[in-house]
Amino acid sequence: MPIQILSPQVASQIAAGEVVERPASVVKELIENSIDAGASQIIIRTEGGGRELIEVSDDGEGIPSSDISLAVERYATSKLISIADLYSIRSLGFRGEALASIGSVARLEISSRCKDEAVGSMMVVEGGEAASVKPVGTSRGTRIQVRDLFYNVPARYKFLKTDQTENRKITELVSRYALAYPDKIFEYIQNGKQKIHTTGQGDLRETVSSIYGFEIARQMIEVGTQEHSPFQVSGVISPPGLSRSNRRELTFFVNGRWIQDAGLSSAVIQAYHGLLMVGRYPLVILNVRVPPQEVDVNVHPTKAEVRFEDQRMIFSVLQRIVRASLIGQAPSPSYAFPSSGHVFQTEQTGPQDWVSARFAPSSSSQQQGSEAHQPHFPGSDDMPLLRSLGQFGSTYLVAEGPDGLYLIDQHAAHERVLFEAMMKAVRRNEIESQSLLTAETMELTSAQTDLLKERLQSINQLGFQIEEFGEFTFRITSVPVLLSHVDPLHAVHALVDDFDGNEEPLRDEVEALVAARVCKRGAVKAGQVLSLQEQENLLRDLERCDNPRTCPHGRPTMIHLSVKALERQFGRLG
Ligand code: ADP
Ligand code: MG
Repeated sequence: MPIQILSPQVASQIAAGEVVERPASVVKELIENSIDAGASQIIIRTEGGGRELIEVSDDGEGIPSSDISLAVERYATSKLISIADLYSIRSLGFRGEALASIGSVARLEISSRCKDEAVGSMMVVEGGEAASVKPVGTSRGTRIQVRDLFYNVPARYKFLKTDQTENRKITELVSRYALAYPDKIFEYIQNGKQKIHTTGQGDLRETVSSIYGFEIARQMIEVGTQEHSPFQVSGVISPPGLSRSNRRELTFFVNGRWIQDAGLSSAVIQAYHGLLMVGRYPLVILNVRVPPQEVDVNVHPTKAEVRFEDQRMIFSVLQRIVRASLIGQAPSPSYAFPSSGHVFQTEQTGPQDWVSARFAPSSSSQQQGSEAHQPHFPGSDDMPLLRSLGQFGSTYLVAEGPDGLYLIDQHAAHERVLFEAMMKAVRRNEIESQSLLTAETMELTSAQTDLLKERLQSINQLGFQIEEFGEFTFRITSVPVLLSHVDPLHAVHALVDDFDGNEEPLRDEVEALVAARVCKRGAVKAGQVLSLQEQENLLRDLERCDNPRTCPHGRPTMIHLSVKALERQFGRLG
């Protein structure tokens, strides 16, 4: 074939592929345009997974009727003039490509009215061909409709996933933008049903509540940068007791732009080190603000990646901020008594309740309540020396420390002790295992077989001896001494049932993951009576742990009732 210059239409469709990969990418570009237009309300509607219809309406500045046909030209933008502007860019868009790209692979309709225009204007683009601009009566702002996405690019159309998957991607995307812009109202209507609606009151916790629900919002910890820091971080992070099996809920915005950056993710994951079970990931929503000249946003057409001038500094500051907030909040939560009456409401409110601000969905304030509700946290990661006072409900140990009373969850505490002992033994290659008198065979489903095979090496390193014994059959000949008191078949079955087909732990995480599950099986249960000596031993062992305050699954091992709080409650203090 001779060399030919591509027709503008074909060139445009090829280029569109970089920007518009799927319905969610269209939604992203349109939302970003609305934000750039200063909208305070953005309404998104989709039908048929975004294939049939994507509509984004806003109450922003609007497009003057004289410019509307320019808006869909490639490289037409109102946001930048020279390449130098790129280094001081404050808008989300700048490439002038989105509308042109969308217009070349779908039927696009734009209607818009500026505030100083009496009538709005409307235009239609189909397959990259723009029809003439017509006047139209419309409210101030812009409405963009995209119908029949990829109707003229069958290759792309074919690669779209089910409606359900595309819908999920769109919902995730809208959620993220809603979280990054709590001061804007976001409404997402999917096939006529409202999926997301935020209030736009500027309250991040309230927005988190609209997206993730009240319970998660209540638990999230707020973080913010100290004044002297060279750049700003703000947002919310999950307490160690709240985690996910994948990294999908790590959300970062850099100067208001949603980005996916492995460096930022790993900085945050490291900040949780020792607080989360390996293979579990936190849920964070963090806004990073950097002077625009210190970040290159023009790395990728979808603008989902950025490059920082001082990458290392940013990561380390981020890590420090997150770590500091966690250490401040995660160690044994101290119970702050409600100022009016009822002591011991911990059961109904949950252990993290006093950690987060006393948030009610109707209140737009994130302020803490009265002084009595101020959380008080022991400063360090170490555990105070405790004197055992006894066992309570066959479930908790009661102990006295330098600053008050401690309630220790015996199961969680024992899990922590066993887990650290096991990991230490693995590192030293000193795991003790016990051979079974008679080998046990175990039959699994094919999915379980795959999961077990993948983890077999790590499991065997932890004191098991399990080998394949047929297509779906395994033979157990030894178990860790830790599990010698439980039925081996039962233990391994429980372990396999716990495997999550969705999680893809890194190789070195598998071990800790399995170890944590083994320890869960091996630990004393709630409801088990412990002798005085056993109680004492458990406290001593816990004191020796590196991370005594949480179990390997991240739940707290202890609750602290401070002397101050007790005195206040008994009316001994002012
Ligand atoms: P970019 O955002 O990179 O400038 P786009 O193709 O996304 O490129 O948009 C082209 C232009 O159309 C924008 O620069 C802006 O002037 C105008 N525009 C697009 N969407 C809106 C909107 N919702 N409100 C106001 N103006 C808009
Ligand atoms: Mg844009």
